[in-house]
Amino acid sequence: MSPFWEKFWYIFTWMTQGTSYLNARAYAILHRMHHAYSDTEKDPHTPHFFKEVFTMMMHTRNIYNGVLTGTIQVEPKFDKNFPEYPAIDKIADHLMTRLFFAGLYISFYILFATHWWMFLLLPIHFLIGPIQGAIVNWAGHKYGYRNFPDEKDQSKNTLIFDFLMLGELFQNNHHHAGARPNFAAKWWEIDPVYPIIKLFDTIRIIKLVKIKAVQ
Ligand SMILES: [Zn+2]
Repeated sequence: MSPFWEKFWYIFTWMTQGTSYLNARAYAILHRMHHAYSDTEKDPHTPHFFKEVFTMMMHTRNIYNGVLTGTIQVEPKFDKNFPEYPAIDKIADHLMTRLFFAGLYISFYILFATHWWMFLLLPIHFLIGPIQGAIVNWAGHKYGYRNFPDEKDQSKNTLIFDFLMLGELFQNNHHHAGARPNFAAKWWEIDPVYPIIKLFDTIRIIKLVKIKAVQ
């Protein structure tokens, strides 16, 4: 990605995450820890050490905050190669900014909702990031089938057409070949985001690179 597109998508991601904005550095570090220590005690989000999803999510939140504030020591191998825009993060992570986004969501409902019960859907918007994380991290390592049974972790493919999490639920395929842009591995599996990645490559918003270990 060119420096222009990197900045563009960084801000775009902030706009779409809104109330549940996640810092890119902390996200990258947690994701790398997850791949390196998948389903072990050092995994920041494995369903296999928790009875239910909320405790797992609180555990993940604590590690995320620790990485963000520096109270958790990060292994140097994880702490590099990610975009950093501290000025954007400072605004995006601020409580007032999150409340501003919450206000936008509420305004949208005031303008367009046709029944009072529709307002009950608002918490989904406020918490869309953690909800997505909970589904992917819990279901993706607990429910489904495995194309690659030799993977040492408990990763699963939960759906054969992942319309729900846009490819993220192909966890077993993803752990098998982490750098592969298409999370679907069999001909009958569909990762709906892969055609968009290919399109972005074709129109040069991104450039896909060939990596040897990818299969
Ligand atoms: Zn995983």
